[in-house]
Amino acid sequence: MRRNQGKFLGSIAPILVIVAALGSLLAAGPQRSAGGRPPASAGASTAFLLRPARVFDAEDGKTREGWVVVVRGERIEAVGPAAQIAAPEGARTIELPGMTLLPGLMDIHSHIFLHPYNETLWNDQVLKEPLAYRTIEAVGHCESTLMAGFTLLRDLGTEGAGYADVSVQRAIREGLIPGPRLLVATLAIVATASYGPGPAGFAPDLILPKGGQEASGTAEIIKAVREQVGHGADWVKVYADYRHGVSGTVPTFSEDELRTLVAEARSAGRPVSAHATTAEGMRRAIAAGVDTIEHGYGGTEDVFRLMAERGIGYLPTLTAEEAYAEYFEGYKPGQPPTAGMQQALGAFKLAQAAGVTIGLGSDVGVFAHGTNYRELEWLVRAGMTPSQALLAATAVNARIIRMQDQLGRIRPRLYADLIAVPGDPTENIQAVRDVRFVMKGGVIYKRPS
Ligand SMILES: [Zn+2]
Repeated sequence: MRRNQGKFLGSIAPILVIVAALGSLLAAGPQRSAGGRPPASAGASTAFLLRPARVFDAEDGKTREGWVVVVRGERIEAVGPAAQIAAPEGARTIELPGMTLLPGLMDIHSHIFLHPYNETLWNDQVLKEPLAYRTIEAVGHCESTLMAGFTLLRDLGTEGAGYADVSVQRAIREGLIPGPRLLVATLAIVATASYGPGPAGFAPDLILPKGGQEASGTAEIIKAVREQVGHGADWVKVYADYRHGVSGTVPTFSEDELRTLVAEARSAGRPVSAHATTAEGMRRAIAAGVDTIEHGYGGTEDVFRLMAERGIGYLPTLTAEEAYAEYFEGYKPGQPPTAGMQQALGAFKLAQAAGVTIGLGSDVGVFAHGTNYRELEWLVRAGMTPSQALLAATAVNARIIRMQDQLGRIRPRLYADLIAVPGDPTENIQAVRDVRFVMKGGVIYKRPS
C-alpha cells in the first residue's frame, strides 16, 4: 500500500484447485545457488536431529520442554520427547541449547519491491528506480526476510515492478538466491485513476506508469485477472477502496465489478486479497466473496461479524500505521499512538471480539524488510498473547493461505521450515528479533556458530 500524506505523494476458491496452483510453490528444491555453492544441505536422504531446549509446534500455543525434531530431506519426519525419538542412522545433530524451535514464520502481506518511504518516497521508487535496480533490491529484501526467520511471504503487488515478482519467485525456487517461499500477486488491480503515481499532483496531460493495473467495468477486470494468471499470479490483489480525487478514501469498484473479479479468479483457481480500509469497501469485498481483507482500519462491528461468519482472513497491518506515523507525523516509538494508529488498534479489537480469523500481515516494504517481527510485537500490544501472535504467524497464516497440510506447524510430513530463537518467545515475544537458526525445506540457511 502506498500512502499519500499532505505534500508527500507517496492486497474461497475450490480448495483442490488452489492446491494445484500452489504446487509449483512447494516444488522448492534448491538445485543450485549463487556462486554455484549449494546451501548447507540436503539431498532427499540427508537427515538432521534438531535438539532445542523446547519446541513450539503451533498445534495449541504451548511449548514442549525437551522435545526434539527429526528432519529427512525437505520434510519433518518425527517430533516428540527426546527419549521417544530415535535419530536415523547418519543423521547430523544440530544442538540448539537454550533455544525454542518454531515453525518458520510467515508474513502474508508484503511488498518485496518497496523499501521504507523515509529512504525514498513511494512516487520516487515507482518513477525513478529502474526495474533492474528494483529487482536487485528485492533480491536483498528476500535474503533479509529469510535470515529473520520468515520462511514464507505472500507478496501483494509489485507496485510498478510489473511481473518481476514471478522471476524472483523462480530464482528462489531454483536455489539461485536465498529467500522465503513466495506467493505472488503480480500487479494489484485498481480502479481507473484511483492509484498513483498521480493523477493528483501531476499535470493532467502526463501519462505516468502506474503502481497497479487499472481496470473499469467487467470486461477490463476479466482481462486483467486473465493476464495476471497467465503471467504467474498465485493470488489476485484488488483495491476495493482508495483515495480518489479530492474526496479522500472511497469505495472504488462497484460490488458487481468485485463479484466479476472474484468469479474470474476463482474460475482460474486463484484466491483474492482485497485492500479495504472503509466499512463500505470491506462490505462490498465480503459480499463479492474475497478470501482475505487487508488493513480494515475502518471496519465496524457488523463488517467484522460478516467476516467471521464467512471465514474471511484479516491481516491488520498494524506496523504499517506506525511506520506512516514515523515518516509523516513525527511519531517516535513509545509515544502515545497517533489517531491513525488508534483507529487500526480499534479495528483489531473489534475483529478479535467478533471472532475473525486474524493472521500476520505487516505491509513490510513500507518498513524495513527483515524487521517483520515488529508486527508480532504489535499483535501482542494490540491484545494477543505471545502464543496467539506466534500462532497467527504460523498455523493460522497457513490456514488462511490454504496450505495448512504443508506448512505452519511442526508435524510429521509437513515441510521442514523451522527456526530457533533464544529463550521462550511465548513468554517474551521480543525473542523473535534474534533468530539464530533458519531451515527451509530441510536446507539450513543460518545456524548458531
Ligand atoms: Zn500492502
